[in-house]
Amino acid sequence: MTLVEERISCPLGAWTGETGRCQLCNKLIESTRRRTWCSDKCARDWQRNHIWRFARSAAKRRAKYRCQQLNCQAERRDCEVNHIFARDGAGYGPGCHHHLSPDKNGVGGLEVLCRAHHAKVTASQATARAQARRVAREIIETKKKTKKLKK
Ligand SMILES: [Zn+2]
Ligand SMILES: [Zn+2]
Ligand SMILES: [Zn+2]
Repeated sequence: MTLVEERISCPLGAWTGETGRCQLCNKLIESTRRRTWCSDKCARDWQRNHIWRFARSAAKRRAKYRCQQLNCQAERRDCEVNHIFARDGAGYGPGCHHHLSPDKNGVGGLEVLCRAHHAKVTASQATARAQARRVAREIIETKKKTKKLKK
């Protein structure tokens, strides 16, 4: 997906793809100094939901620099930011996979965890991914076998 396509399809934005309109809220841009966003507010709103370093600090600020796991006793500022749904190969490049909050289907979003909880959550996400890959492989194998049997 190109940057333009992603901005048009972003569930947080209202942009229709027309030039001269804010690529977040779709308002007509009145200032001659601006090309992409109608205001600093829209620029910041977009940045902190799509650019990792902004999203990461916004998530920490929102969590008041504390681990969000229930009853965690970790020190304030012992915090790292985790993608609730693994980035799915999208890496840390800009994009909708850095949205601060889950979308209306509950997909995505960032959470703040202490180092210990982050390591635990990341490990279980990796296990879940490996499990999903194994299941997918088994399905493919079974399909291959049944095809052979039919021949
Ligand atoms: Zn705007
Ligand atoms: Zn987005
Ligand atoms: Zn914790």
